Amino acid sequence: MKKPVEYIGAALMTVLLLGATACSGKAQSTQKQNPYYSRTDTKRLTVTNAEWKKVLSPELYAVAREGETEFAFTGKYYEYDVKGTYYCAACGNPLFRSTAKFSTTCGWPSFYEPLRANSVLYKEDNSHSMTRTEVLCGRCDAHLGHIFDDGPKPTGKRFCMNSISLDFEPDTQK
Ligand SMILES: [Zn+2]
Repeated sequence: MKKPVEYIGAALMTVLLLGATACSGKAQSTQKQNPYYSRTDTKRLTVTNAEWKKVLSPELYAVAREGETEFAFTGKYYEYDVKGTYYCAACGNPLFRSTAKFSTTCGWPSFYEPLRANSVLYKEDNSHSMTRTEVLCGRCDAHLGHIFDDGPKPTGKRFCMNSISLDFEPDTQK
């Protein structure tokens, strides 16, 4: 009576192990290991660019650490309307709720307020012969985008973000 159960158990275990191996192999080939990523740790990070370069994809590194801007209308969260939370793609810091997102014609995902006041930091940016206010992640200082004063009520602000700097997690159905 015991044998078939044991056999099935062993077979199942083999399948699970094979599955796990296949999954981890795939994850490693498409995504680098990022030891700084946490959605719960609020401790500020002081990580050098040399270290970030090892753990972020080249595309994310260019935006997050070098302040590049992705092309308008190309990001994955422009015209994205799902309920959930947007996290920093570099460190996992919770940044925005989908309820603060609004549709614009500017070509980048835009929000009228951050999740918490200290979710983001601000810095004057005088590049490209303009005076703008840069928005950085409050935990890891990753470049997220810029803030403008032409947003909707209640804040009148437009947090104009790069999709690649954001990591979205949909709300779970309750
Ligand atoms: Zn961050």
